[in-house]
Order: sequence, then C-alpha cells, then structure tokens
Amino acid sequence: MESSYQKAKRLLPFMAKQRVPLTPYNYRIFFDYFDGQNAYLKQKLDKYLQERVLFTPELSERLYREIYDYSEERNKQLSSVSRKFETVSQDLGKNLNKTLNSTGHYRQILSESVAQINSQGATGDSIQAMLSSLLEETKYALNDQSDLADHILSTNKIIATLTSELRDQTRLANMDELTQLYNRRYFSVRFQQMLQESEDDPLICIAIFDLDHFKAINDNFGHPIGDKVLILCAKILLVHSHDDCLPVRYGGEEFILLTRGKAIEEVAELAETVRRKVEATEVKVRGNSVPVTISGGVSRYRPGEELIDFIERADQALYRAKASGRNRVLLEEPLS
Ligand code: GH3
Ligand code: MG
Ligand code: MG
Repeated sequence: MESSYQKAKRLLPFMAKQRVPLTPYNYRIFFDYFDGQNAYLKQKLDKYLQERVLFTPELSERLYREIYDYSEERNKQLSSVSRKFETVSQDLGKNLNKTLNSTGHYRQILSESVAQINSQGATGDSIQAMLSSLLEETKYALNDQSDLADHILSTNKIIATLTSELRDQTRLANMDELTQLYNRRYFSVRFQQMLQESEDDPLICIAIFDLDHFKAINDNFGHPIGDKVLILCAKILLVHSHDDCLPVRYGGEEFILLTRGKAIEEVAELAETVRRKVEATEVKVRGNSVPVTISGGVSRYRPGEELIDFIERADQALYRAKASGRNRVLLEEPLS
C-alpha cells in the first residue's frame, strides 16, 4: 500500500495541475480521492474535474460536509487540526508563490534575452553580458526551486501526520459513543455509497430493532442499567456483523443492521439469531433479573426508492412485531 507520505507527494502536483486550491478541506477530499476507496467521492470529483468546476471555499466545505459531515462537538476538534493545517499550507503557499514569481521573472528575462540575441543589433559583447546575467538569474531560480523542494518535503511530513489525525477524528464522528456502533449519520452515508457501488437492482437489506419495554427497564432499574443493556445489545449486533454488514445505533434504543449481498430471508435469520441472543442475555441487578428482549422488522431495498421509504417498510414490520406480542422478528409485507 502506498504510504500517506507517498500519496501526499503525488497529490500536491496533481492539485496544482487541476487548479484546486490547497486548503485543508480540499486536501482531505483529494487525499481520499487518490485513495480511490470511496467510489461515491471518486465519481463526484471526476465529474467536477471534467467540468472544470472551481473549487471555491464554499464548494469544498459543502463537499466535505456532505462526505464527512460531523457533529458539532467533533467540529471543534477538527477545526483545531484544520487550523494547524492551514498554517502549514499557507506557509507552503507563500513559498510556492515566491518560486512561481521568480520562475515567471526568469522566464521573462530568458525570452527577452533570446529576442535580443536574435535582433540585428546584437554584438559579441552584448551577447556575452546577457549570458552572464542569465547565468546569475538561473542560479537564483534554481536556488529557489531547491528551497521549495525541501519545503515541500517537510510540509508533506506534517501534512501526512495531520491527515492521519483528521482521519481519526472522522472515524470518531462516525461512531456512537455509548455503544461504539456506527451512528445514524454514517449509516446514511454508507447506504448511499452502497447504492453508488452496485448495479441497478442491488441486494441491500436492513433489519431494524427496538428494545422491548425499555422505558420500564430505565424506570425500574435506573438509567445506568439501561445504558448497560444498550451496550450488551450493541455487542451482540457487532458479533453478528460479518461481510458487508453494518451495525448501527439508529436512535435511543433502536438499532439497524445494514446488509449487502444477503437475501432478505438470510437477513431475517440473522435478525432472529440476534433476537435469541438478546433474550438469552443475563442482566442481574441486586439479585433481580432484568428482562431484556428485542423486536425486529426486515425489508429489502427497492430500486429507485428513497432511504426513508426503505426504512419505513422495515419499521412497519417492526410495528407489527410489537403489536403481535414483541420479542420477535417479522418480514416486510410482500409486494401486492
Ligand atoms: P416498546 O416496547 O414499545 O418499544 O416500549 P419502550 O419502552 O421501549 O419504548 P419508548 O419509546 O416508550 O421508550 C424508549 C426509552 O428509551 C425512553 C428513553 O428514555 C430510553 N432511552 C433512549 N436513549 C437512551 C439511552 O441512551 N440510555 C438509556 N438508559 N435510555 C435511553
Ligand atoms: Mg423506540
Ligand atoms: Mg422500545
């Protein structure tokens, strides 16, 4: 695998060539673009680059938020990394400008000299004088270039560190703190990515779960025990999330498994296994057993529909599971 450092080295010239300003947002977005793992991002940026869209600060920020949208609290941590990053890139920008200016100046002198040599009035002496001043200019230009190369190298090291910090922060922004499952925000991002990555009729399903009588658990045993129950359920979901299966804390006591490549019956079986494991979980408080059960509803994505409708059908199945006695998993109603 290419290291962050190697990637950063290729990235800067690429961004300069595409006239993408070196800002923290752009750097992060293009870093992942180079990575190529995020198909959604790649497709989007390819389109922008092809259309020669200007990466204004507004556009970069919008793109960044769309792709890595983070909570307010994370925002603060990110902006401290961003600030450090900004100093580094401004510094680099100044050096780049200096070199570009001096290269521009050098080019101008060069073309003036060539014009003069070609002019009819040029003498051996004047050409000699011109060549020695050109030599001086070349030395300056080369000096600036090597300063810049050193600067880019050290800047890249800093940028690589900041990028990995930024990546950690982004990972945290995707997680639910209490349960360490993915959060609702990341769930919708991942779902959109799955759609982008798959064919016309993708095999994407969800199982949505809701703890039964959870309010009573809080009321009877206290909020900390409620939290403990949530963590235990999350662990069960995590253990059963293999191969393209994303475990999510969707809301207070609601969870989702987002799956790809599994038939709906297979997902229902998986949800049933989770349900049984939750039922079998022993939680004791001062010698009393806390009754923990969960209900679930399963649906399969229908091409062209919105995420909200896909969830709604799983939710209706969940509602029927609750209404028919709880502690069970039901499938969505078949297409009529
Ligand atoms: P049902 O079987 O119909 O789902 O009943 P319920 O009691 O589970 O549903 P209800 O929506 O009435 O209550 C959900 C409760 O979940 C209320 C809320 O206080 C609790 N809750 C939400 N988030 C948390 C949390 O992070 N920790 C704890 N301890 N409780 C939470
Ligand atoms: Mg609920
Ligand atoms: Mg509930």
